[in-house]
Order: sequence, then C-alpha cells, then structure tokens
Amino acid sequence: MNIIQQETICALSTPSAMSAVAIVRISGNKSLAIIQSIFVPKYFCDYTPRKVYYGNIKDGENILDEVLLTYFAAPHSFTGEDVIEVACHGSLYVQKRLIELLLAQGACLAKAGEFTQRAFLNGKMDLSQAESVADLIAAQSRSAHQLAVKGLKGEVSQTIKVLRDKLIHFAAMLELELDFAEEDVEFADRDMLNRLIIDIDLEINTLLNSFVQGNAIKNGIAVAIVGKPNVGKSTLLNLLLKEERAIVSDIPGTTRDTIEDVIVLNGFTFRFIDTAGLHKSEDIVENMGIERTIQTIDKADIVLWVIDARQVQNYQEEYLQLFANLDLTQKKVIIIANKIDLVENINLDNNIIFISAVEKKHIDEIENKLVEFAQNYENINTTLISNLRHYNALQKAKDALHSAKQGLSAQLSNDCVAVDIRQVLFHLGEIVGEVSNENILGEIFSRFCIGK
Ligand code: GDP
Repeated sequence: MNIIQQETICALSTPSAMSAVAIVRISGNKSLAIIQSIFVPKYFCDYTPRKVYYGNIKDGENILDEVLLTYFAAPHSFTGEDVIEVACHGSLYVQKRLIELLLAQGACLAKAGEFTQRAFLNGKMDLSQAESVADLIAAQSRSAHQLAVKGLKGEVSQTIKVLRDKLIHFAAMLELELDFAEEDVEFADRDMLNRLIIDIDLEINTLLNSFVQGNAIKNGIAVAIVGKPNVGKSTLLNLLLKEERAIVSDIPGTTRDTIEDVIVLNGFTFRFIDTAGLHKSEDIVENMGIERTIQTIDKADIVLWVIDARQVQNYQEEYLQLFANLDLTQKKVIIIANKIDLVENINLDNNIIFISAVEKKHIDEIENKLVEFAQNYENINTTLISNLRHYNALQKAKDALHSAKQGLSAQLSNDCVAVDIRQVLFHLGEIVGEVSNENILGEIFSRFCIGK
C-alpha cells in the first residue's frame, strides 16, 4: 500500500468534557518521534506495535499526567499511517495541554474527519465505508447501528462493485471497438449488453426504492399524528413520549426542519413530525388545518389518525374525505379511536385500535403496530441505501443507463453508447470513491467530528 505522506495530525478523540479518561490520537510519520519527545515510560518500552505502555507525559520540568500509550505502526492502523493513542486523565486542562505539547513538537491539529479521510486516501476503506463510520458514531438506535455496521463492513461497496464489474467488461469491449473503428467489428454482443442493461436497471431501481426504508432506519421513521381538534392527539403524543423519549442530537449529513419529538421503541427510532401545534393542546386554533394535515401525511411513513370513539360510526366516510386522494402506497395508516372511557358499548372493529389516552389504556397496541411496521423495513432482504449522496449518484447512473439503452435501440454509433456506459460507471464509482475530487471529499468529511 502506498501511504500518502502528509503532516502528522493530532486531536482529542473523546468529547471535550471532564471525564475519567480522554483519548488523544496522533497520526502521521512523525507520530513516534513526537510522542517520544514528551513521553517518559515507567517500564521497558520499545514501542512494539499494538502494545500498551505506561508512563508520564512531561511538560518541561513537570509531569503533566500519567498515561497509557498505544502505538499502531503503518500500515496496520486505522488511518494506514503510524498512529499513537494516548489515554490520559479526562481533566479539561490535561486534554488541552497535551494537545498544546503535541503541537509544539510539530504536530498539526486535525480537521473534522481527517483521520477517516486519511484512512480512505490510504485505501483502508472506500468512501461509502468511511461514511458509515460517521453513521455509526451518530447511530441512536439498534437498527440504525446495525445498518451502519453493515455499511462499514462494506455491504453497499460490495453491491456497487458487483454492478460495476458487470459493466466494466462491456465498457472495455466497446472501447476496443472504437480502436478498431475502421474495421467495423463488434466485440460487445448487443443482445447481451441490452439484457445486462435491463438487469442493472432493475438492480439500481431496487436500491433506489430501498432509500425510503434505509433513510427511515437511519434517521427515524416519520410518524404523523393527525385528526380533528380535541380528539386527544396531544394527550396521546405526550403519553407516547413520556417513557421512551430519546435525547436527540444532530445527525451529521441530515437536515431537520424543526426539533422533533423522538422515541426509540424496540431498537427503532420514530420521529413525530409537525407536532409543534400539539404541544399547545389548550390552543385549539393551533391544531393543524386540512392543508397542513395533508402536507404532514405526505411526509410521514406512519400516520396515526385519531378519531373520537363516540363518533366511530362515521369513520369510513371521514377516512375517504381525508385519505382518498393521497398516495398511501409506502405508508401505513393506523386508525385510533380515543376516549373509550366515555363510551358504554364499543362495537369493536379490527381496523381500529380503541384506546383511552387519559386512562392510558391500550397504548401498547399502538406501540406494537409501530414496531411491527419498522420490522418490515428491517427485514427487507436487499442492501438498503440510506445515504442521500449514494441515492443521487444512483439516480444519475440510472439516467445514463437509460440513455445507453435508448442509444442501443436507436442503433446509435458505439461511441455514443460507450460515453453513456462510462457515465454509469462514473456515477457508481462516485459512491465508493473510485472517482472523487477534493470538493466532494471536503464536503463529506467536514461533517465528521474532530478526532475521527
Ligand atoms: P387534541 O386537540 O386532539 O390535541 O386533543 P387534546 O389531547 O388536547 O385533548 C382534548 C381534550 O380531550 C382534553 O381535555 C383531554 O384531556 C381530553 N382527552 C384526551 N384523551 C382523552 C380520553 O382518552 N378520554 C377522555 N375522557 N378525555 C380525553
């Protein structure tokens, strides 16, 4: 492996806060020299890779801290370069001073994501795997974590590689034909190429379609609570949030319009969208109007439609009024009749969950339905695309593929078809970073945290 020689970088890899232990990481060919200038081992220390050494960090004549030091020699490290990890005490002063000492010895402060960027540049992982590192750090539920681990292990990379490999052969044949243009020979069998294009088109479509699920697992399944004013939407929301409310931070690479109410149930994240009005339950005017309700339903994966159990007999008519013109193919509508405590005789209906929000009755039935829906997402037996950049690249690959297909059926000259096939390969290559430029890399890695 050709390790690209760059400046030696250092950064705090643990959060900048007081803690029992903090980790400072150094990467680059001067790592060892830099640390040796400030580390005084307590026992025999020959800097054998992957061994831990105990000693002091000196700060001039004084001791800054007692630390544990681990050395990973290039190329067998996360970045592919010489890496040192120093586990020091998590005092804010110690963390800051240790970094200052490293900088004084010639290290530079790492930029956000620079360790992972180096790992990518040194061929330790491809771009989609590097992005999974950020997803793994940001994962807040079991399912999001699992998806990130799959990405890190190379599931997306492998799927893309298979698609690219299939096309590369034909691309090469087409290029060869161009070299022999005078002789009018055909190396790439047009029927086979047609069939291959249809195959790849199907596979790309499957991946594109999986984005709904992949994105929902990664960022949370979008749930909307809708219904007429006063049916008990806010009461229900508060109930659902009460026990399982999650602490949410910003996930790199995602944008959220508003701060959302989030819960984690059975390892799945659910985001309650457009709930601003529901937090002011006293203010009936704040309840969503029909326009807003429809927009909210449009954004949701799951719709909790709340009705009053006392008016349940009208629900089909109301259902039609609200949902008839909406595309529900990718969504689930759960009908909830609330306030059963006010009803003497309930005519049970399998399509409806009957609850009493004030008496906290049957709320678990709603939770079970949410989890059931999420499990269907997770059980999909294909690679899930969860990264918008990958989705956009796949879309472009698909467009180029269609252009190639049209070119073939219109019997255009093979240089036109070859250009389209090259475009498909280019866009697939963007996903794994076979083709990339500094701007793209800068954009991707700047979303990482410092020290990763
Ligand atoms: P929203 O306008 O749909 O958000 O409705 P709210 O949650 O603000 O509830 C409206 C009123 O119905 C409040 O006075 C609630 O206490 C009451 N309410 C909510 N759920 C129930 C229930 O299950 N039973 C009864 N009896 N009252 C309820």
